[in-house]
Amino acid sequence: MPVTVLNSHTHYDHVGGNAEFSSVLAIDTGYTRANMAGFSHDRIASETEPETFCPELPADADPSKFFTRAWKATGYVRDGERLDLGGRTLQVLHVPGHTPDALALLDADNGLLFTGDTYYDAPIWLFVPETSLDAYSSSLSRLVGVESEVRYLLGAHNVARVDAGPLASVKSAFEKLVSGRFVPVAEDDGILSFNIDGVEFVTAEQVLQGRSGDPGMGGSGLDGW
Ligand SMILES: [Zn+2]
Repeated sequence: MPVTVLNSHTHYDHVGGNAEFSSVLAIDTGYTRANMAGFSHDRIASETEPETFCPELPADADPSKFFTRAWKATGYVRDGERLDLGGRTLQVLHVPGHTPDALALLDADNGLLFTGDTYYDAPIWLFVPETSLDAYSSSLSRLVGVESEVRYLLGAHNVARVDAGPLASVKSAFEKLVSGRFVPVAEDDGILSFNIDGVEFVTAEQVLQGRSGDPGMGGSGLDGW
């Protein structure tokens, strides 16, 4: 059975195994292409501290040398494209915001929406220079429009599957976030945590101000401000 990789986006914590596969699809953005170079140890070092591993590392593993290998897309997908897996069809929805290359996958026949890091049932990270709140707003609206067609949302962190329904609340909480009328519940080294009507966001002042980095430089998700 051939295996094809299609990442929800190309942050370091989603593409570390890409180099192992001969067939990798991607959205064609400059950001994606930059991330194909892999992430050096320096850029992901904070994720290789002993306490970040569960269970403990094998005795012969040396996390001080961990990095992610370069990889190459073998093909590109476009917004709206349908991928026929044989007995299951996935539609690609390009939903930039969390990153320029964030995508969701809609399995309409089975009522499933794979939301990547655009939505999962935990604090939602909108923190790094490659994040665009304007783009995220549009993408969230688009997913709200799709949500009534599905039974389950499958995010890329924390909780594997939740019943469809929360996206409209996330959207309205997000609009309150960008209104600037709410204060963070916690602030730690430039990381701002908000809890708005029970929806948690993690962001940075620079993101809230609409500033962004150069997406063509790529970004790991840890290369903060
Ligand atoms: Zn991410």
